[in-house]
Amino acid sequence: MKFKYCPLCGRELEEKYSWDEGGVPYCAHDNIMYFDTPKPCVVVAVIKDNQILLLKQSYIFKNSKVLVSGYVTNGETVEETVYREVKEETGITVGNIKYLGSNYLATKEIIMLTYMAEYLDGEINKSSEVEWVDWSNIDDALCEMQEDEIGKEVVRKVLKEIKYSGNKAYRCNL
Ligand SMILES: [Zn+2]
Repeated sequence: MKFKYCPLCGRELEEKYSWDEGGVPYCAHDNIMYFDTPKPCVVVAVIKDNQILLLKQSYIFKNSKVLVSGYVTNGETVEETVYREVKEETGITVGNIKYLGSNYLATKEIIMLTYMAEYLDGEINKSSEVEWVDWSNIDDALCEMQEDEIGKEVVRKVLKEIKYSGNKAYRCNL
C-alpha cells in the first residue's frame, strides 16, 4: 500500500530518497519511511498419512475448501505463524514444517508463504471463524478446492513432496 498520510500523526508524507528504493513516502515528524510492502500471510497444508486438513470459509471461496491460512503478526517468526494459525483455526498441533515457496496475490497485496506440515497431535476443535474443518483424502483435495488456485498449487507441490504415485489425485487437475 502506498501511504499518503502518516498513520501515526496524520501529517502528509513527503518523498525521501532511499538509494536502493527510489522515492519513499516519509514522515519527518516521526522519522519513519513507509515502504510499499506486501502483507505476509501463511498457507499451510497439514498432512496426516494420506489425508489433508481442509476448511470451509465462505468469505474466501463460496464453493471451495481451502487450506489453513492467516496473517503473520508483527513480533513473531513466520514459522511461529504456521504453528499458531493451525492451532487457532483447527486445534491441531503440527511439526516438521517445510517451506514450499511463495505466491503473490496482487488484488490484496498479499505475499503468501506456503508450507506443508505434519500432524503431531490434537483433536479437531475449530475456531468460530471457521465454518467447517475436517480431514479429506489427499486423492480428493484438488476436486474439493476447485476455486482456490493457489491452494491447489500448494497441494500439487505436496503430492510431489510425498512422492504420490497414483493418478486419482489429478483427476480434477484442470
Ligand atoms: Zn508521522
